Amino acid sequence: MAGPGWGLPRLDGFILTERLGSGTYATVYKAYAKKDTREVVAIKCVAKKSLNKASVENLLTEIEILKGIRHPHIVQLKDFQWDNDNIYLIMEFCAGGDLSRFIHTRRILPEKVARVFMQQLASALQFLHERNISHLDLKPQNILLSSLERPHLKLADFGFAQHMSPWDEKHVLRGSPLYMAPEMVCRRQYDARVDLWSVGVILYEALFGQPPFASRSFSELEEKIRSNRLIETALVVEAVKKDQEGDAAAALSLYCKALDFFVPALHYEVDAKRKEAIKAKVGQYVSRAEELKAIVSSSNQALLRQGTTVQELLREMARDKPRLLAALEVASAAMAKEEETGKERDALDLYQHSLGELLLLLAAEAPGRRRELLHTEVQNLMARAEYLKEQIKIKESHWEAESLDKEGLSESVRSSCTLQ
Ligand code: ADP
Ligand code: MG
Repeated sequence: MAGPGWGLPRLDGFILTERLGSGTYATVYKAYAKKDTREVVAIKCVAKKSLNKASVENLLTEIEILKGIRHPHIVQLKDFQWDNDNIYLIMEFCAGGDLSRFIHTRRILPEKVARVFMQQLASALQFLHERNISHLDLKPQNILLSSLERPHLKLADFGFAQHMSPWDEKHVLRGSPLYMAPEMVCRRQYDARVDLWSVGVILYEALFGQPPFASRSFSELEEKIRSNRLIETALVVEAVKKDQEGDAAAALSLYCKALDFFVPALHYEVDAKRKEAIKAKVGQYVSRAEELKAIVSSSNQALLRQGTTVQELLREMARDKPRLLAALEVASAAMAKEEETGKERDALDLYQHSLGELLLLLAAEAPGRRRELLHTEVQNLMARAEYLKEQIKIKESHWEAESLDKEGLSESVRSSCTLQ
């Protein structure tokens, strides 16, 4: 395991670079071939010493299944190797990362994009099912994207896959509960159809940004799958509660989440009466969200003013400390930059630079008034930097979603997004 690049395994013929991810039993690295081609690949490494009987089996099924198939939407296994320490699967590299990250950096996917992704996933699954192969661990983390510019799905991680005809029944618990069919969770007895349940959960997550039964425990999950309550209703109940408690920021974000559900429902509902009812609700939530937005932004302004006085006081107390003065200078430059449009990244860099300095100074500061002020200032700046990061994220994810698909985001979803 030793060698250049601390902690990176070494493999003849390849140079391993960054770690791409890890999952249930392996770590995956980006690598390129030392040959002239310099081909970029992904190498899935499993440490032999961590192998128990189950993971050897996973690895062998993965190799066996993948080496026999070739499909545009299934990740290609190019080769496999082993040495004293590890077993390596050398696979086609998917530069777009996995679908989980793809969805979450964009919050939700436009319907048009989700539709194309579903077609690609369906073609991979049809191909597998014709060969009596069930994946059994379908989830966004196991679906990769060929690139970010022209993303194509590539189904990956066949560690749990099985040769299984549609009528075979299995009795072992495999896969991730959130994406797992109820017969798998509750009865532990299932057949090839469980993959279809997972496809539904994945589609839902693509459109709404989270799986339909997001839960913290097994029993909560089971309760949610069994209940008939609408998901959006639960969000509104939570939003109203936060609103009553006076937590405007949390209430706002919950209302926005609920609107993510209600707005598309408005779009799809065919029954005129129900459509009216949804419309009334949406109107009500939108106006409360707008009010909350005003409250949140005015309290941000107040914090900003308060922050300026802390900074002024500190500056007074820092006359004999050139390093502190300089760091405070950078902080106020960051705040000024933040006011300029389109300079968010520069502002964030300045915040980070000043925070780095201020944290060091804070650590060295003796207890007293100046330390207290410095502490407050660091907290203020961190909160501003976090807020800025969020703004950048929202902006970039809109931008990316738009460039991915110029007219894909429906107008209604667009208007609900701008609430945040
Ligand atoms: P595990 O069996 O441990 O879950 P996976 O095969 O799912 O391993 O890989 C773990 C993570 O590594 C994936 O979720 C993905 O983010 C990343 N990854 C895996 N294979 C590739 C690949 N071919 N190209 C790019 N990233 C990959
Ligand atoms: Mg995985």
